[in-house]
Amino acid sequence: MSAVVLKNICKIYDGGVKAVDNVNINIEDQEFVVLVGPSGCGKSTTLRMVAGLEDISSGELYIDGKLVNDVPPKDRDIAMVFQNYALYPHMTVYDNMAFGLKIRKFPKEEIDQRVREAAKILDIEMLLERKPKALSGGQRQRVAVGRAIVRKPKVFLFDEPLSNLDAKLRVQMRAEISALHNRLKATMIYVTHDQVEALTMADKIVVMKLGVIQQIGGPLELYNEPDNKFVAGFIGSPPMNFINMAVKTEGDKTYVDEGTFRLEVTPAQAKFLKPYVGKEVTFGIRPEDVEFSHTPVDGKTINGSVSVVEPLGSETQVHVATSKANVVGKIDPTVVPTPDEKVSLVVAMEKARFFDVDTELRIR
Ligand code: ADP
Repeated sequence: MSAVVLKNICKIYDGGVKAVDNVNINIEDQEFVVLVGPSGCGKSTTLRMVAGLEDISSGELYIDGKLVNDVPPKDRDIAMVFQNYALYPHMTVYDNMAFGLKIRKFPKEEIDQRVREAAKILDIEMLLERKPKALSGGQRQRVAVGRAIVRKPKVFLFDEPLSNLDAKLRVQMRAEISALHNRLKATMIYVTHDQVEALTMADKIVVMKLGVIQQIGGPLELYNEPDNKFVAGFIGSPPMNFINMAVKTEGDKTYVDEGTFRLEVTPAQAKFLKPYVGKEVTFGIRPEDVEFSHTPVDGKTINGSVSVVEPLGSETQVHVATSKANVVGKIDPTVVPTPDEKVSLVVAMEKARFFDVDTELRIR
């Protein structure tokens, strides 16, 4: 069992920077948890506190139910894979992987068995006698992971391990790390700024901004039910479109009105938008939840003119400039809109999300 619990964890650096602000996370045994957020949001600092590489200013950190705030890194039974791999250049792959066990005085035979087993799992058996400079980026990355595996730690920590790889290799290593997690059944905490890595790898995602947790949930939960505008905009690519619109009623219908077009909301949405009638809200719709059309329909379509067309093969992304915003739609690649053309986007209204303009919290 290797649960990790962060309780009211704060980190204040010298000079008063509050890098991590009252973070609470329950990481269950064998769970794959991804900490994600833009640069500077405090995700590395959080990971480094779990590793013991950074002091905890206040709060409690438990590994396996044991308070470890003051336990030195080497006694925490964790292994960390760094962004730059931190391999010893003068040592062979074998020795790089064996090093952590040697200094812990493991018997030679056991070291050999563990190194060969890890090399087999990672498919780097033929590289054991090479030095790091004779390896590709992807191979170095595997060795760095191998060095963690041989330790058989309770918890694996990954700090942006794929950011030095090219796009294609990143996709491949993403799948390999997921497969490794399934195979080792270890608890893993993974830090990235890339929401695609978070969505594809995580059992549970922790979204952070300016040191504060914005939301914790499964990938689809965060995608479908974001708690605020930040999470809605951060998870998903291209990001959710936002337009500030006025809530209005006409007869028994409720609309959000942009000025040049209006959208009729569903009965359920009308209910929770009631307190906002006469005021503005931020309307949000994902690029995948609109459909291209040449015909504007009152209450159903966003209307504007085409500013950019980006064909991607499997889909085309069209940017439509309305009087207030730029709205991106993912559309059928056989449709070829021309720049400046007047077009419409039919909105799947049940997929729309609404946010308070001031607090940016979800209205529901
Ligand atoms: P992330 O990993 O999300 O990019 P970090 O955890 O590295 O973010 O940093 C969080 C905040 O703490 C940032 O504002 C950063 O400038 C600050 N910070 C990081 N390390 C230090 C340090 N050693 N001293 C002072 N401030 C730091």
